[in-house]
Amino acid sequence: MSKITFAIGGVHPDDAKLARGCAIEVLPLPETMYVSMAQHLGAPAKPIVEVGDKVKTGQVIAEPGGFISAFVHSPASGTVKSIGPRKDLAGNPVTHIEIAVEGDEWVEGVDLSDTLVTEIPEDRAAILDKIKACGVVGLGGATFPTHVKLNPAPGSVAECLILNGAECEPYLTSDYRIMLERTKEIIVGAAIMQKVLGGCRTVIGIEENKPEAIEAMRKALTELPYSIEVLPLKKKYPQGGEKQLIQAVMHREVGSGGLPISVGAVVQNVATSLAVYEAVQKNKPLITNTLTITGNCLPVEKMHNYLFRIGMPLSYIAEYAGGVPEGAGKLISGGPMMGRAIANLDAATVKGSSSILYLTAESTRRGQESLCIRCGRCADACPMGLEPFLLRKLYFAGDVEGLEANAAQDCIECGCCLFSCPAYIPLLDHVRQAKGMAMAAIRARAAKK
Ligand code: SF4
Ligand code: SF4
Repeated sequence: MSKITFAIGGVHPDDAKLARGCAIEVLPLPETMYVSMAQHLGAPAKPIVEVGDKVKTGQVIAEPGGFISAFVHSPASGTVKSIGPRKDLAGNPVTHIEIAVEGDEWVEGVDLSDTLVTEIPEDRAAILDKIKACGVVGLGGATFPTHVKLNPAPGSVAECLILNGAECEPYLTSDYRIMLERTKEIIVGAAIMQKVLGGCRTVIGIEENKPEAIEAMRKALTELPYSIEVLPLKKKYPQGGEKQLIQAVMHREVGSGGLPISVGAVVQNVATSLAVYEAVQKNKPLITNTLTITGNCLPVEKMHNYLFRIGMPLSYIAEYAGGVPEGAGKLISGGPMMGRAIANLDAATVKGSSSILYLTAESTRRGQESLCIRCGRCADACPMGLEPFLLRKLYFAGDVEGLEANAAQDCIECGCCLFSCPAYIPLLDHVRQAKGMAMAAIRARAAKK
């Protein structure tokens, strides 16, 4: 059993990887797709097509709206039907490009074959350009543009690239399936990023509850010419958190407000590595990802891991999988710990979509909230060393200075505090608000400088 893990806090929810045995299936194209302009961290992308334009699969349809932003490509061939606001997952209006799907005719120059390309290009700048042009963003949740993350500021040195294969959120199995089914492509993607970062130590961290993935990666590495190691990690939530992974692998702490590169680390998800492989070796833009249909009100035979095209409505995927199951009290995009409630099932999938999780009302019902008994369990569980009960108090008092002094801005919104609280206090809601207050003050100060 692996002992490698982060030092403080963490919890042990049931991993419920019920869809682990479901091989990836390719979803057929729907009649209409809706491509969001806000599917990455940073400024929204700007449409460069007009209503009535004919587009091909993989064609650029929107350009980055700023330095931290990303290109967006058409997920199918067809006609641009409209450009305008449409509700996202949370019900907020976001600009989408609506495409009437007429086929799947790709732009020229994309290698759609399964042939594995292992030779890595020499030119670092050309690799970064390709990753940028293909719209690759981090697929572990943050959707930060990958070409920016792989190009640290002058003076920063990457000492270790950590590939995140932890997939520590309960229920989710898409990373597990790609580690089994796209093993070598992920490894080549890691080797490409290793090259871009100057040849640093490269580690693939995988939780020990995925022994088949650990074995598949190790076997594939014996057949490939790269210097990359596989590190089994203890099963503990949130093992896949960026700062937690760095602590586990490098025994280094990222300081308050600091970036991983400040301690020499770059963390990329295994799905991002696959997207980097496809961009650099196949010239294929990021228009697909893998998503899990799962939950505690679905029989295993109705669970799936799907390869979806970005822009497919969630409702289309849900229908294709057999419809919303009876007894589903709550629908979540992402895992049960950090995922977001789906307020609008007609929302379009985005680059970072990872699941439709159906949970029974009973399993998500919170116990009757009572007064804090000062047991300290929330603080013991916090992997960032915060005191959630105190942050909550400071938040209700409107004490912004106190929130900053107690590092509310460092909360990673993992939900360990909520999971641990015997008084059923909605701590995650409160610490999210507290973090928002602290961040707003920090941003306002920075804007004045
Ligand atoms: S949600 Fe924030 S405060 Fe709560 S345990 Fe996670 S990091 Fe700590
Ligand atoms: S776990 Fe809940 S009851 Fe215990 S100190 Fe934290 S907020 Fe209070």
